[in-house]
Amino acid sequence: MRKIVNITVGGKVFRTTQETLDNFPNTRLGKLTHTSDEYDAETDSFIFDRNPDMFNKILDLYRLGEFHISSNICGSTLRKEMEYWQIPTTHIGECCIQHYFKYDDDMKVMQKLRKNFDDLDYTDIECKSSRYKRWMRKVWLTVDQPLSSIYARIYNYIFMTIVVLSMVSFVLGSHPSFRKEILSYDKLLMIIEFLDIEFFDNLNLNNSKEVMFATTMASPVLSKIDLFCMIFFSVELVVHFISCPIKKKFFTFPLNVLDPVLLTAMWTTFAFENNLEFMIEREALTTLYQIMKALVVLRLFRFFRIVKIYSGLKIIMITLSSSVKVLLLLFIAFVVAGIFFASFIYYAEFQVPDNFPTIFTGIWWAIVTMTTVGYGDMYPQSTYGHLVGASCAFFGILILSMPIAIVSTNFFAFYQKNKEREQQDQFKKDNPRDDVVESENRI
Ligand SMILES: [Zn+2]
Repeated sequence: MRKIVNITVGGKVFRTTQETLDNFPNTRLGKLTHTSDEYDAETDSFIFDRNPDMFNKILDLYRLGEFHISSNICGSTLRKEMEYWQIPTTHIGECCIQHYFKYDDDMKVMQKLRKNFDDLDYTDIECKSSRYKRWMRKVWLTVDQPLSSIYARIYNYIFMTIVVLSMVSFVLGSHPSFRKEILSYDKLLMIIEFLDIEFFDNLNLNNSKEVMFATTMASPVLSKIDLFCMIFFSVELVVHFISCPIKKKFFTFPLNVLDPVLLTAMWTTFAFENNLEFMIEREALTTLYQIMKALVVLRLFRFFRIVKIYSGLKIIMITLSSSVKVLLLLFIAFVVAGIFFASFIYYAEFQVPDNFPTIFTGIWWAIVTMTTVGYGDMYPQSTYGHLVGASCAFFGILILSMPIAIVSTNFFAFYQKNKEREQQDQFKKDNPRDDVVESENRI
């Protein structure tokens, strides 16, 4: 005779047989006996204070042999229920496993976002205890978080204007109209002929760019703008650092590392440009100057401070950093395919003189073709070459499109989750009471 078992879950009575429950003896329901704590002799049933809606699915495991999840159940509840009823993940049906893991993926995305958008701030306790800290907090928020107040917004506009100004001055500095002559061409020729200075001896007179940089310097207006920007950014860095609540963490933000490097480079080049004669006589210094001058290009990165306002930009960065694997795959595919097609084109065009002189030039051609850029500086001319070229272009589209689809899916996931995060943060801001416990627990 079948033995009926009564189970009351959250007030709802479920009826099943001992035979059914015996299907999974290592789970909580499989282990039930009349000596269990949950057994109530008066009603002859086992009483549990759990979610009755979920329990239907739990019982189905014993009936069907597989655990199937209804899609409207939250991932967190599901995990807690499964843990309570001692159901291992391996019992989940294949059709439902994706639903189970989707929660993990979503949580990972959310954590990554929170980590990236979590700004440094003073704690409430610090602010209450000292007046200095309260002031520093104001300075910090103004300098670091443009969305924190109206002053911070205004300051940020000023900052951005100066960033743009410094960029414009950098770009204009390469145009002949914005350069002042410090040495005439004839004098330059004389120096090269009569003086033994390595810097001038190495100069290529056929290269107009080299000649321009040797005979002219940035116009006084541009130099003054540059000096102003440098002073501003130096003061900004000092204020930014001094007001930082956790100094150790200041340099964990890439943009904050950039600033000291950039300022060192800018001040060094500034010092060199004001002591040209001293520098030109020493070759090592000239090399150092050129390196520093190249570093100054990094000033363009300062513009990325704008990510503090437009979260979308930050999402792009997060997407790229979490798509490293796929991008690496793309890179490897490109390198392998590049070498492959380069070798083919090299031999296919063997009869055409001067075309594809080495396999190296073939790799350049293959990558330019696969990315659909096609500069046209090199192209196959023989019939075999055309065949290789066509398959290279076709293959390029294929390997390019697949990883890019994954990157854009990642981007969409981050974008969507970030929207939810922003809404949630806004809600917490508007209802500060709910937040009290959390803010006290922080740090
Ligand atoms: Zn299923």
